[in-house]
Amino acid sequence: MKRNGGERKQRTLLYMLCHLIKLAVGNSPGMSLLFFLSLMGTGVCTAGNVFFKQNFFDRVEELVRGSTTIGLAVGSGIAMALFLILTLIVQAISELIQNNFSLLVRGQMGKLLNEKAARISPVVFEDNRFLDHVNKAYTGMEAGVEVMCSTLSVCIGEIAYFVFMGSYFFSIKPALLLMFGLSFAPSIVSSVLRRRMYAQLETRSAPYRRKYEYFERCICAREYVKETRLWRAEGFFGKLYRGNLGQYTQLQWRTEKHSELTEVALRFFLLTGYVGTVAMLFYYVFQGEVTVGAFAAVFASLDQLFDRMENVFNYRVGGIMRCFGAAQNFYAFLDLEERGGTDRTPLQRELIELKDLSFTYPNSTESALKEINLTVNKGETVAIVGVNGSGKSTLTRLLLGLFLPTKGQLLIDGKDVKEIAPEALYRGNSVVFQRYQCYKMTVEENTRLSDIDSDKQVKDVLKKADFPLDNGKFTEGLDTMLGKDFGGIDLSGGQWQRLAIARGLYREHDMIVLDEPTAAIDPLEEAEIYRKFAEISKDKTAFIVTHRLGSAKIADRIIVMERGRIVEAGNHEELMEMGGRYRELYEAQAKWYA
Ligand code: ADP
Ligand code: MG
Repeated sequence: MKRNGGERKQRTLLYMLCHLIKLAVGNSPGMSLLFFLSLMGTGVCTAGNVFFKQNFFDRVEELVRGSTTIGLAVGSGIAMALFLILTLIVQAISELIQNNFSLLVRGQMGKLLNEKAARISPVVFEDNRFLDHVNKAYTGMEAGVEVMCSTLSVCIGEIAYFVFMGSYFFSIKPALLLMFGLSFAPSIVSSVLRRRMYAQLETRSAPYRRKYEYFERCICAREYVKETRLWRAEGFFGKLYRGNLGQYTQLQWRTEKHSELTEVALRFFLLTGYVGTVAMLFYYVFQGEVTVGAFAAVFASLDQLFDRMENVFNYRVGGIMRCFGAAQNFYAFLDLEERGGTDRTPLQRELIELKDLSFTYPNSTESALKEINLTVNKGETVAIVGVNGSGKSTLTRLLLGLFLPTKGQLLIDGKDVKEIAPEALYRGNSVVFQRYQCYKMTVEENTRLSDIDSDKQVKDVLKKADFPLDNGKFTEGLDTMLGKDFGGIDLSGGQWQRLAIARGLYREHDMIVLDEPTAAIDPLEEAEIYRKFAEISKDKTAFIVTHRLGSAKIADRIIVMERGRIVEAGNHEELMEMGGRYRELYEAQAKWYA
């Protein structure tokens, strides 16, 4: 599987534009049309303004020469003012529409990202380089919106203006247009240079940003704050935070510095161009090739023209190019390879076979699972035991179909998991993870979200999991909001855990995994929970994971793991009789159950 990094396909600006326009038009044609019209309106108005201005100049000049009436001159002045007001109104409406349109495109891009993330293999999320990818994809999304809106507004709005002005210059003296064009040539070079600088900046600075944001969370986020205070680790995290922020700022600063230097050089060219154009105009007037009236009109609009041109090349195009570099990351994320497997036939899970199965985490050199061989029949309860780090959780993730074997095979009803579509593989599987989630939602939502379509009774399942819904604390029953974030009540570790178990049981399943979600409770209570769990799932295939051997006794079969391998297997009596690793561990832990 291609993970990340590697070679990246670069999208052209045109591709990006077409893709985003299609996305917007496809989802909201009316809004998109309004947006295009508003841009055109602004362009036409701005160009029109120059025309009204020139008209006014001409009338005034004629008035001075006595070839027109004062009424006509004042009239053209009023027309110019009215058109200016119209332009202001059109601009305001256009901005409003533009904001709305940006949000629309952003929403659609966000949807694409989320859908993509759901299709990427979960194992990719284990690789910390992947987090950079996600981070960059989200900034890339904002950048993409900017690229699209700015490019369209330059293309539709500004080009109308420049075409109008260009023809106007050309009609006076073609050489003026040439001079004007030449003074902006360096701007194009500088745009390209800057685009490259900012693309590199994004790649190099993202890891620092991710780190300083994380250390910031370590200092002030709710889930960290208690520990951080108690350890008095604010200083420790603060130092790491400042270190990474410093690196980040330094990278930013260096790029900004280079970018500014290029800009100064550019301004120098523009100034030369401006002076050159004025000198040329002056020369033509002096030679009698251009009238004083035309000189006035050109000279009056020259400032605005240079300002606008500079704004487009320096600010708008520079901004577009900067965002264009960052927006590539959005597409790089969409390019990440998805999990294969196309067989969608529902699985019966009569037989699960692991054959010489090995698994290595991405970005890791040592295998977490080595040459595992195991056969499990439907309805069996299998306990997976072993010390921390022996590979128990990893094995369950493979059994659940979340990760695929890197070597060897996992067969379900004789079918290789690599051929099975992920949806088919997940359907009928349930789990209570070692690090289960505490959703900041109601009790009912917390339980039902494992199987939104199921019509099971939430209360029955909560009862099975011994969740104390009737202890008086849950004033709104199933609708009681949990977690402080949105104004709900907080639960104890044990209560969250029972809720996680209820969630696992709620999902329709023929196989369920209980991956020691019991860190918070004592061995005897854990043993009781496991006994009850095995009873509830007696006709299902169940895997119960624990490093406390007393909880495993109730299983039909116990497998003992050590450093990624299965070292012993059998039921409790057989393993005790064997007098190996299991017995040794069991006797060491016996005092917990005394
Ligand atoms: P257990 O559940 O038995 O405590 P795990 O399955 O969590 O053990 O871990 C097995 C081995 O895999 C350990 O050596 C652990 O360090 C390694 N491991 C777990 N998660 C990752 C990961 N995301 N990336 C790399 N190695 C990992
Ligand atoms: Mg574990």
